[in-house]
Amino acid sequence: MNKTLRKAVIAGNWKMNKTPSEAKALIEEMKPLVADADCGVVLCVPFVDLPAALEAAKGSNIAIGAQNCHFEKSGAFTGEISGGMLAELGVEYVIIGHSERRQYFGETDVTVNKRTLAALDAGLKVILCVGELLEQREQGITDEIVAMQVKVALQGVTAEQLSNVIIAYEPVWAIGTGRTATADQAEEVCALIRNTVAGLYCPNCAAALTIQYGGSMNAKNADELVGKENVDGGLIGGASLKAADFSVIVAAASK
Ligand code: PEP
Repeated sequence: MNKTLRKAVIAGNWKMNKTPSEAKALIEEMKPLVADADCGVVLCVPFVDLPAALEAAKGSNIAIGAQNCHFEKSGAFTGEISGGMLAELGVEYVIIGHSERRQYFGETDVTVNKRTLAALDAGLKVILCVGELLEQREQGITDEIVAMQVKVALQGVTAEQLSNVIIAYEPVWAIGTGRTATADQAEEVCALIRNTVAGLYCPNCAAALTIQYGGSMNAKNADELVGKENVDGGLIGGASLKAADFSVIVAAASK
């Protein structure tokens, strides 16, 4: 496996933060700070911020993403947004299966798979989130849980479509808690994900796959985490709301 076969990507997940005017201001502040990045830079913003974010990021190296999309193309699904709606706006990425969606909005491995297929079908790139709960880590079943999440989520995804998928390993106990997985823990599970994908597809497909770590990654710990062989950047929550911190993480992934 060779890190040069794939691209590191730093993606911000703004969650339910920033109004459209605040989004515009933050992206304007970030643009010059990440302009020299030698990695992918993505900002996943609230749905209503998408037009302002797309406009603000125009002509820059920042790609814009959403934080979820529904698995049907249209219909009686009040409050939902389809992949096609996002694609028509010019949105490039979508996060699927974030642990907060699983925890608070009834997302399951099966709906994560359906949303992944629908998003890919709409032409979006998917940041697919997987990760174990604290109890599962303590029970020693992290590998089984994460491998199963990956296998179910990728059911029906072709090898060609896999090139539009990023997998984000996000241990649930590390998200928004300030408790980061050690670089060795992150590396271990990211390597497991790569081996799982190699088994499902082929070794080359796995070697080319971007696998991020997410969970309290910040300006201080990013260097060590993204330096690991199987960690190709990160999905960043809290620290993506501060231009200076986010740009330090982007710089770490650009080395
Ligand atoms: C996330 O929301 O995906 C995340 C990793 O959040 P935080 O960086 O705040 O832990």
